[in-house]
Amino acid sequence: MPQKSALVCGAGGFIGSHLVRRLKQEGFWVRGVDLKHPEYTPTATDDFIIGDLRDQNVCKDIMDLPYDEVYQLAADMGGAGYIFTGEHDADVMHNSATINLNIANLAVKVGAKKIFYSSSACMYPAYNQEDPDNPKCSEDSAYPAAPDSEYGWEKLFSERLYLAYNRNYGLQVRIARYHNIFGTQGTWQGGKEKAPAAICRKVAETEDGGTIEIWGDGKQTRSFLYIDECLEAMRRFMDSEFMGPVNIGSEEMISINGLAELAMSISGKKLHINNIPGPVGVRGRNSDNSLIRTELGWAPSQSLREGLTQTYNWINEQVEARKAVTV
Ligand code: NAD
Repeated sequence: MPQKSALVCGAGGFIGSHLVRRLKQEGFWVRGVDLKHPEYTPTATDDFIIGDLRDQNVCKDIMDLPYDEVYQLAADMGGAGYIFTGEHDADVMHNSATINLNIANLAVKVGAKKIFYSSSACMYPAYNQEDPDNPKCSEDSAYPAAPDSEYGWEKLFSERLYLAYNRNYGLQVRIARYHNIFGTQGTWQGGKEKAPAAICRKVAETEDGGTIEIWGDGKQTRSFLYIDECLEAMRRFMDSEFMGPVNIGSEEMISINGLAELAMSISGKKLHINNIPGPVGVRGRNSDNSLIRTELGWAPSQSLREGLTQTYNWINEQVEARKAVTV
């Protein structure tokens, strides 16, 4: 059988760089494109192009093959400190929408066989996520639309964009709504890090008996999915005939203070939590995996504790290495 080819847009990012390794293990020829190289390990791609996907000429250059699979993961994004303050709204919408407009259009022109689009649970309506103990995030609850961030609105727009390209041009799309993917080799400092990495870093940086700050009252709930589980779900999804949109997440919901307690118990430290005002997003969110179980027979295979242990250990190493440099 001829070698399959894949293009990974956003191959320098967290999910993209892990995905490239997985595709290589499966025998794909992989081209990656991103504004930057992966931060923590060299890329595993066969061909890595530094380029700005907002630029149509860059997109034309990379879209010169009828790829078997295209993964569109590139987006202007970050954790709550980036997408919920309002300061980056125009950039988030402009940058990510431009990338998706370019890629959807060129995927048809080049004859790409299938394209994966990474949407987000942030597109779900805020009115269904006010009760931290009982959020509703089934795929059919997306409308009437009312995401709580411009990041979520752009995701919803781009979902619709890919679906329109499917209807009008026959583009084979696979649309996933990720719920908080976390793991090793993800952003853990600098302002774009998300809750699991930020919490692991704070715990790693703090001496036993000290205090860490957590945004909000800590009672807001979320679920978190470890990167390896996410990749398994993505690959099954791409190999299926199902188009989505479908949730890729965990149903193990936990409060943010609970997540901090879990990180402390993994570290063996006893710390105090100081809940301070900060950007927090909706009160409650949990993945609803009914559809993905039915369509793909997929469910996470390990507990949050297992994935968080691996992530904490990796972030702890980064914190120690940083200390060694600054001492
Ligand atoms: P990430 O920020 O690590 O990766 C995104 C990559 O896109 C970055 O490397 C960035 O440099 C690149 N990029 C941004 N603008 C670009 C441009 N103009 N041209 C080329 N490259 C550009 O994020 P991630 O966590 O790996 O997320 C991947 C995708 O999944 C994103 O679309 C994100 O919105 C979506 N998503 C992620 C999560 C999560 O929990 N990680 C949750 C929901 C949705």
